[in-house]
This record gives sequence, structure tokens and C-alpha cells, in this order.
Amino acid sequence: MSKYKLPNKPFEYQNFVNGEYINSLSNETFERKSPAHGNLIGTYQLSNKQDTEHAISVAKKAFKSNAWSEMAGSDREKIIRKAASIIRERAQELALIETLESGKPISQALDEMEWAAGIWEYAATLSRHITGDVNTNVGKDMTAMMQKVPIGVVAMITPWNFPLLIISQKLPIALAAGCTAVIKPSEMTPGTTLLLGGILKEAGLPDGVVNILSGYGDPVGMTLSESNNVDMITFTGSTAVGKHIMRAAATNLKKVELELGGKNPQIIFPDANIDELIDPVVFGIYFNMGECCNSGSRIIIHKDIVDEFIEKLVAHAKKVKVGDPLDTTVKMGAIINDVQYDKIIGYIKSGIKQGATLQLGGTSSKTEKGAFIDPTIFSDVTPEMAIACEEIFGPVLSILTFDTADEALEIANNTEFGLSASVWTKDIDTAMIMTRNIEAGTVWVNNWMSGYPEIPFGGMKQSGIGRELGPRAIDEFMETKSVLIKTGKSSNWV
Ligand code: NAD
Repeated sequence: MSKYKLPNKPFEYQNFVNGEYINSLSNETFERKSPAHGNLIGTYQLSNKQDTEHAISVAKKAFKSNAWSEMAGSDREKIIRKAASIIRERAQELALIETLESGKPISQALDEMEWAAGIWEYAATLSRHITGDVNTNVGKDMTAMMQKVPIGVVAMITPWNFPLLIISQKLPIALAAGCTAVIKPSEMTPGTTLLLGGILKEAGLPDGVVNILSGYGDPVGMTLSESNNVDMITFTGSTAVGKHIMRAAATNLKKVELELGGKNPQIIFPDANIDELIDPVVFGIYFNMGECCNSGSRIIIHKDIVDEFIEKLVAHAKKVKVGDPLDTTVKMGAIINDVQYDKIIGYIKSGIKQGATLQLGGTSSKTEKGAFIDPTIFSDVTPEMAIACEEIFGPVLSILTFDTADEALEIANNTEFGLSASVWTKDIDTAMIMTRNIEAGTVWVNNWMSGYPEIPFGGMKQSGIGRELGPRAIDEFMETKSVLIKTGKSSNWV
């Protein structure tokens, strides 16, 4: 029996602006029901264009005051580190909110709080390692300093699938750099991001440095993207909205960082140990109900071992428990909303229609209490099928086969995406050739979805622009200013 319960009444949230929790200017709100239970679990401020412009002006004023950017890195570190410890202390409460809003299993939501706190800790260390460079090699009387300066006001727009984790891949790094921020979480899962405002205030962050608004892409996200007073926008979400944001950002040529979709291949060679890879493959596709940019949704396996693989895979995937995400033994909870449910079911139908073989699942249940889709596996998938090349964002695995390594590579790269990929082989030559040639921001060898704050993450091709995390992530939020200092006597031009 799980100790996690539905709340007796919905949580009520406010926007966080200039260090205070406030209502939207219109006083209007919107609601969220738990996708797994049907109960009303939150009411949030419905922010409009004026709310957004106000929050931007607050962030700009805070940046111009230099109170944050000129604070010693060691002091910024203390505040960011304190925020990490409060996230850890409140992990149970935060995880429950994420499960109620998103339908994800509570055990997984708890893990995410731990990952998020770890990134805040890593970012805290980065704030003490901002250094520029000096060049005394351009002439006797010239000294050049390359200074690192924060970029300014950063807008952050995030999706619903890993709410606190994804904002934690952006915000603490931007804060370490000395930037100020305006944040818009997804309208489906804003709760924990809104609570982050209070956490940062408690940690000692000066008022106005971080401002958080709940609301919809139109108008809040659009106003942020178009604003002349925003210096950079960092967005995680769909490729379609990412393109829209990039166009809108042209207003003032603000810097754009994008973390977008994926259709990530896992190439399995005949020398791989099938018994060792079955569980990571099952995890890679069914983790977060497949609603994951890193979902390992395309298996590209040598045809000699596909039968053995399917038999073992189906047996293992049958053990994945689907159900109430508040049950700590459940591995797959509810699908986020009706639109996503219909989209996934549409892909299952298209797989069947296009001639793929349904090996497992395809089954689902939808009541007023929530929508659940069982682990689904298709074999005999060919590269041109929709289930082979489009991002489904659901628990649907496509299995394709290959004969030669070149063929495997061609299938793997035959997509507009380039987020992540894996190679399963015990042969070092095969592994090296594949990792060099796969078009993806991250390539795993004999594992899936390992990740650390120390290691950069991001996509190639239409999976994104820029990299989050890693020691250079801080550079994404900084400008380089070259200062050239002349000593000695100048020679005349005329
Ligand atoms: P989405 O693109 O629909 O929405 C993301 C955010 O953008 C939300 O906050 C939304 O309100 C906002 N938005 C919507 N329209 C907007 C507009 N016109 N202007 C500005 N903002 C707007 O994405 P989603 O459905 O929330 O998330 C799923 C997508 O996110 C998938 O494609 C997934 O692959 C991607 N994703 C990528 C990563 C990564 O790191 N690469 C991580 C998680 C999710």
C-alpha cells in the first residue's frame, strides 16, 4: 500500500515576481486535473501579455542593478547550493506534485528530485570558476583581456515531461553566470517550478532575479520569445514550437538555445550480450511512459539475432507494471492528456495499417479517471513507416533490422532528429566507427540514458541548438567581451 495520497483539496499557486507570490493582473486562473485520477489537483494564475512584460521589466531592472551579477561567485555559490538542499528537503512534496500533474510514477518523480538537486550543486561549483583570458602576445604595448560577462535577462520555457529537472538544467547554470530570468513552465505541470520561487527566496536570492509565470504558450511564451528586453531564450519542447520561437526571437536577435525532440536509435550488433541489454532497452522505451525526449524508440538490430531478441524483450516488457502512479511499485503511469493519448493510439493504428507486426500491447484504457497505454512493441518495421521516423512520445517501440554496419548507420541517421543514440557491441572497432558516424548529441555504448551534470547534453540536426550541462554550459549564458589596453606611446594615423 502506498503512503502517497491524493490531496483533499487542490493546491493553489501564484506567480512569483520580484520576490513575491502574486496573482495575475486579471486575477484569472486555470486548473489541472490529475491525468491518472481525474481529480482537480491545482489552480494556477492565467498570465497574459501584460503580466509577462511586467516580469521581464522586473528581471531587467534586477540585472541592471548588478546586485546579482557583481556578487562574488563564492556568494552566488552559497545561495545556489542552499537551493539544492531545500529541493532535497522538500523532495517528497515536490515529487507528489509532479506525479499528480504529469501522471508519472512517484518512485521516478522522487529520483528526478535527486537529479535536480545534484545539478543545482554542480551549478554552484561553476559559479566559482568563471574566468576570462589574457593575451599578451599581440604586441609589446598591447594587453588584451577576454572577459566573461553574463548575457542578461534569460527567458526559459519548459515542457511537461520532467518539469523540475528540465528547469534545473537551465536556471542554476544561468544564475551561476550572473543572469536574471523569467520562466514559463508548461501549463500542464507548473506546480514545482512555481514553488522554486519560494525555495530561491528562502535560499537568499535577491528579489527580481528569478520570476516565474504560469500560463499558455500564447501569450506568455510568445511574449517572452518576441520581447526586445529579453537577451536570450532557452527552450525545451517540441521541434515545431522550437522553430516558432527561433523565428520570434529574430525581433532583437536574442540568443536562442533549443532542446527539442528525438527519434533515438539503438543499434544492436550480433556480438552484443542480449541478456544484458534487454532491461536497458525496456527502461529506455517505457521510462516516463515513453514521454521522454531520450526515449530509445528505434531498435536497429542485426537480422541474425532479431528472433531471440524479440522473444526475450516481449517476456521482459510484459513485467512492466502499468497503473496508479502513486503506487510505488508501478513503472508506467498515465498519459499526460487526451491529445497525447489520441496521438499515440494514432501511431499504433498506423503501425498496424502500414504492415508492421504487433508483438506486444497496442492495448489501452481510457476513462474519466485517466488514460493508460500498455507497453507496445512492433517488429518488421521499415524505415519509411511513420512509427520508424516520427517522434511518438509514448510507450511504442519499433524494431528494424540490418545486414551490414553501413546499413545500420544509414537507417540510424535517416531522420531529421539527432538527439541521442546507442550502440550495443563488445567489439571496440565497431563501437568506435559507430560513435564517430552516428549523428547525435549523445551516443551511449552498451548502456542507455546515463547522464551526469558534468556531461553536456543536447541535440544535433533538428533536435536542438546548444548544449546544457557540463563545465562549458555556463558559457551559453555569457558573452565574451574583449578589452584591449594600450600602453606606451601611440603612433599617428595622419
Ligand atoms: P511543446 O513544444 O508543446 O511545449 C513546450 C513549452 O512551450 C510549453 O511551456 C508551452 O506552453 C510552450 N509553448 C507552446 N507554444 C508556444 C509558442 N508559440 N511560443 C512560445 N512558447 C510556446 O512541448 P511539450 O509537449 O510540452 O513537450 C514535449 C516535447 O518536448 C517533445 O517533442 C520532446 O521531445 C521535447 N523535449 C525535449 C527535451 C530535450 O532536452 N531535448 C526534453 C524534454 C522534452
